[in-house]
This record gives sequence, structure tokens and C-alpha cells, in this order.
Amino acid sequence: MPEKRIGVYIHIPFCASRCQYCDFCSSSGKEALIPKYQEAVLRHIREFAPRLDGYLIDTVYFGGGTPSWYGAKNLVAILDELKKRCSVLIGSEITLEANPDSVAPKELKLLRREGFNRISLGAQTANNAILKFLGRRHTWEQAEEAVRSSLEAGFDNVSLDLMYGLPAQSREDWAVTLSRAVKLGCRHLSCYGLKIEEGTPLYRYRDMPSIPDEDMQADMYLYAVDVLAAEGYIQYEISNFAQKGYESRHNLKYWTLEEYAGFGASAASLMGGRRFTCLPDIERYIAAVEGGGSLFSELEDVTVFEQASEYIMLGMRTARGIEAGEYEGRYQNSFRPLRDLLESYAKLGLARQVDTRWRLTPRGLLISNRLIGELLDAQAEQKFHVGMPWRKEEYYDTLY
Ligand code: SF4
Repeated sequence: MPEKRIGVYIHIPFCASRCQYCDFCSSSGKEALIPKYQEAVLRHIREFAPRLDGYLIDTVYFGGGTPSWYGAKNLVAILDELKKRCSVLIGSEITLEANPDSVAPKELKLLRREGFNRISLGAQTANNAILKFLGRRHTWEQAEEAVRSSLEAGFDNVSLDLMYGLPAQSREDWAVTLSRAVKLGCRHLSCYGLKIEEGTPLYRYRDMPSIPDEDMQADMYLYAVDVLAAEGYIQYEISNFAQKGYESRHNLKYWTLEEYAGFGASAASLMGGRRFTCLPDIERYIAAVEGGGSLFSELEDVTVFEQASEYIMLGMRTARGIEAGEYEGRYQNSFRPLRDLLESYAKLGLARQVDTRWRLTPRGLLISNRLIGELLDAQAEQKFHVGMPWRKEEYYDTLY
């Protein structure tokens, strides 16, 4: 009987148009490629399925791009292929990423009927002028309507993506966005700070004085943490807040280093201690699946040292945090230098220990990059002995 659990990610790299800040693997104006892409994803699943023998799939996540714009029938066909070829558990979390301008009630009902049970809507801000500047194709009112349609279609688990630190966004704007968002009855909210990436159209505006500075972004973040806590949302990851029991089970897999398999351009997998990422280009991905060459742009064994680093990086972003016994048991490395640092953070109000687990406080999460960097440096100074656990050294130390 299969026992291991795994999540599946399907990447849909098509959008109706491109947003100014976007650096995801997605294209607009390539709709003509959708039929071939669909065939490629179905074939990829068929051919990879034997490697998923022995696994039970308990989450499926359709991300993009804009999956809701790809066509409900195509999405259902992909889910059906997975169900046919692999073991998808009843009660799996099946998520659709959607944009408010591409969620027709009829399609939502079809998706719900076919097993989709979670919708993640990109709403971003309640300020329509900012939405327009960012190149978003919808208004806030459409986002509200999309939430209502999702609820009416039977989706109990609706999530909204919101952004702070946007050009011309004031603290008041952000407060209004949050207060309107919590009124909608969503189970889950994600709040991301804007990052202006090189190569995006927004990059040329990076020095605009109206872009909130670091201090203002910090205020906006801490405000969201307070407001959402008061509204009953639990912060379970640096940017993610959920009502009890509505944490994203799929995203938790990434943050707790569980296994996942990805299908589609740029989709990543972590299986059996190996990480592999599909080609991040629609045409090359299709050609590779059709037999034209290697499907992967990256293929690597994850070393014990890298696994331990990821445990710290990802764990310290979540409310679950990290724990000495878990770290030492998994990676055979002493937690002591990390504990010394964490204790110093605790004195500054940046970290705290709850039972045996260490986690960052909201103020610590605000400067998590720096703190996690220091923890990684402390770890890097230690020796990793694969096959010669540090415990043995301590054991020998006591003998001599
Ligand atoms: S809808 Fe999402 S994936 Fe598409 S361009 Fe905008 S941000 Fe990027």
C-alpha cells in the first residue's frame, strides 16, 4: 500500500496581459499555444506517473500565470489525468489561482463540481488607480464580486492576495484594503510587500518618491499583523494569515520540506532528496515533452548541508519555527550555535521559544532576511560530517 504523501503543482504560464511588477514565468499573447501546452502537460503527467507509484497525492495546486484564464475544461482534464494515473486522496486540497476578471460563475461551478475546493484570488489593493498603474485588469469591486461568486459556487475556502508598499499607496489606503478584505469572509489572506525586480516594466520607476520606504513598509506590515490577529486570522507564515484550519496545506509542504512534484514550464519538484525544475519557457517545455531534449533546467541532489539550511530558512518564516531535536535528528549537527543566537534575539524581542520550538516574532519577521542570514552563518561555521554524526564526536570527547 502506498504511504508517502506528496503535493502536486501544475504551472499554467498564460495571462491575458502582463502586470508591471511581474517576474513569474508567464506570457501574454501566446494563447495559440494553449492546445499544445495542454497536450504536453497531460503527456508529462502520463509519462511521470510511474515515478509517483507509492505516493498518495494530498494537495494539488494550479498556479501561474492565470489558471482561471486558461479554461475550466482544460483544468479539469489535467486534474482527471492525475486522478486516472496516480493516487489522489479523497479530501485533497485542490487550489486554483484566479484573477477577478476571469472567474465566470459557470466555470467556478464546474470546477467545484469536479473537485476543486480552494480558490486563491489576486486582488492586491482596494485602490483602483493603483491597480490600473500596476497593469491589473480588474477593479477592487470585481475582486469583491469574484469572492461572492466563489462562495456561491460552493468554495468555502477562498484566499485573497493583497500587496503593500505599492507606488502611491498610503497607510490609509492599506488600512482600507485590509478592512474591506476582512469583510468578505475569506478564510485566508496573503499579504506581500512589493519587490521591484530587475527586468520588469516597473523597474524603471524604482526611484519614484511615491514608493513607500522601508520604514513605511514595516509599519504597513506590522499593522496587517495586528489587524488580522484581531480579526481572528492566525499568522502561520511571514506573509500568510488564515482562520484556524484553513492554512494552505500545499504551501506548508514547501515550508516544511515535504515532497512535491511539478508539471508545466518552470514547475519545480523535490523528490527523494533531489530537486528538479522544468524549463522556464513555454515553447521549449512543449518541445522537450514532445521528445526534443532535456525537460529540466536544473537537476541537483540536495546535500545534507543544503537541507539543513533550508530547514532554517523555511522554518523561521513560519509560526511552526524550528526545534533542536528535529534539527539534530535530521541533520546530525549541533543546534547549540543556533540556540545561542536565538537566545540573543529573544532578549531583543525578535524571537521567542514556545515549548521546545523557536520562532521569530512579528518584529523579527520584519528583518527575517538578516536574522536568517546570521543563523545560516552560525551553521556554516560548524562541520557537517555525513556518516560521522557530531554526536559521536561528543561521545568520544567524553571518553578521552
Ligand atoms: S496576472 Fe499574475 S502571473 Fe499574470 S502577469 Fe499579472 S502578476 Fe504575473
